[in-house]
This record gives sequence, C-alpha cells and structure tokens, in this order.
Amino acid sequence: MVVFQNIAKLQSHLSLIKKSKKVGFIPTMGALHEGHMSLIEKGKEKSDYVVVSIFVNPTQFDNPEDLVKYPRTLENDLKMLEAIGCDAVFTPSSNEIYGSNIDAQTFHFDGLEHQMEGAFRDGHFDGVGTIVKKLFEIVKPNVAFFGEKDFQQLQIIKKLVEKHEIPVKIVGCKIHREEDGLAMSSRNTRLTPEHRKEAPFIYKTLKKAKKRFKKESIDDVLNWVVKRFEKNQLLELEYFTIADEKTLKSAKEKVKGEKYRGFIAVFAGEIRLIDNIKL
Ligand code: AMP
Repeated sequence: MVVFQNIAKLQSHLSLIKKSKKVGFIPTMGALHEGHMSLIEKGKEKSDYVVVSIFVNPTQFDNPEDLVKYPRTLENDLKMLEAIGCDAVFTPSSNEIYGSNIDAQTFHFDGLEHQMEGAFRDGHFDGVGTIVKKLFEIVKPNVAFFGEKDFQQLQIIKKLVEKHEIPVKIVGCKIHREEDGLAMSSRNTRLTPEHRKEAPFIYKTLKKAKKRFKKESIDDVLNWVVKRFEKNQLLELEYFTIADEKTLKSAKEKVKGEKYRGFIAVFAGEIRLIDNIKL
C-alpha cells in the first residue's frame, strides 16, 4: 500500500496505474470502522485498484466544535487499510487541498441541498460538493463508492456528477450496523457509555416506523415517532421525516409506485447521529 500527502505525486503514480486498471475511489474523513471497510470491500469487488482518501474537510462542518473534536486516528486507519488490501491512500493536509483559502464553492443540486441535513446544517452540502469535486478532479477515478448511511449525500453526489459532467460512476453501499443495530459512525466513539447504550433505540424506532408505514398514514407515523422520543430521557429528536427517495422532499401522502425512506437525526448528548431506512 502506498500513501501520498502530495497531489502531484499521487497523480503521477495513478497516471501509470490507469493505463491498465480500473480505479475505484472511497473518500472518507478517517476514524475508520467496519462501515468504511464495507465500502472498500465493494471497491475491491468492482474495480482493480482501490484508492482511499482520508481528509477531515473543514468546509462541511457547520459546528466548529464538531470539527475540532472529530476523531483523528490516522495510524490505526492506515493499519486497517493495509490489512484489508487497499492499494493507495491519499492523506492531504488542509493546505494541500485549499491553500490559504478555506472556502466552499456554492452549488445548486436542484433543491436536494435544502432538505433535511441541508436545512439543519448550514452550508454543509456546499462543503461536501467542494471537497468531493476537488477529490474527483485529483484522483479521476472510474468509479466511486458512497454509503447509504448518508443517503442525502449519496443523492447529492450523483447530482454533482450529472450536473458537472464528471466521468465517474457512483455506487451506493448498504448501511453497516453494530450488532445492536446502531449505524456505524466515526462519531459513535464520542458517545458516553450511557448514550451508547441507548443509541440502538434510533434504529429500533426506524424499524417500527417501517412496519407502521405499511398500514398507517404518514402523519400518524410521524406523530408516533415524535411521541416515542418525547418519552426518551437521553435522546433528543432533531427531525424525523418520510421523504421521496428521488426528490428527498417530505411526503404528505403515500402515492402508489413512489419509493420512500424515513430519515432521522438525533442528539445523544452533544453527539449528533443520523440514520435512515427504506420504507
Ligand atoms: P465519513 O468518513 O463519515 O465521511 O464516511 C465516508 C464514507 O463512508 C461515506 O460515503 C459514508 O456514507 C460511508 N459510511 C460511513 N458510515 C457508514 C456505515 N455505517 N455504513 C456504510 N457506509 C458508511
């Protein structure tokens, strides 16, 4: 496994590789866990050469404290990547990516950016669009892998690629969970033991909401989820919404043939957790 911090060196290495190999790319912010590894396994399956980037992107954090406290475990990340058979890792500094101008570009994703995470995290998807576009321009992969854990992000990346005519195939990958159902996330390591114990309540609620969605109205399911969280002393619901998978707009009524997902954001103390489920 080769590790690069420098754009020019990575690019000259990849230009040789690309002559004979299909390059798969997995952008991450590090603090790697089994969820990331499942994307890398998919990358190994669907491409010949796997590149992973590790970069905690400052422009996508709306909360400065979250950026400072975001877990950074580079040494362990590199061990995990080596063990799984990743081919190349890109770990640039902020200066290498942004120079002295740590700013996000403004994007229009046909309204996808205004829903859910976009509504609650100011400027988040401009930051995500900025870094992913930059990384695609640097790595120029044939195919890139993103988790459904961040389903809105996945749809936005598909839109980014379509609108900016970036020649890369985007592959969505299933959510990887802990045995107790909690969606794996780098932020889980920051949960207090008490909050960690309670956090599976989130996925349990999603699964129950899915059952209810089959026979109840959307409003009834929404109200049921809100009430369930009102009774929970440790977890604070930020939003739960049932949205159309394509437009990500909140649905009011079920329309036959449309696909829906339930999306949730919850505060477990200071830590914000998100999850979603296909309905
Ligand atoms: P992050 O390092 O959190 O920015 O995540 C990097 C990539 O891994 C993104 O495409 C995420 O959606 C994906 N990812 C993070 N957690 C999971 C998970 N539990 N299951 C599947 N994919 C995940």
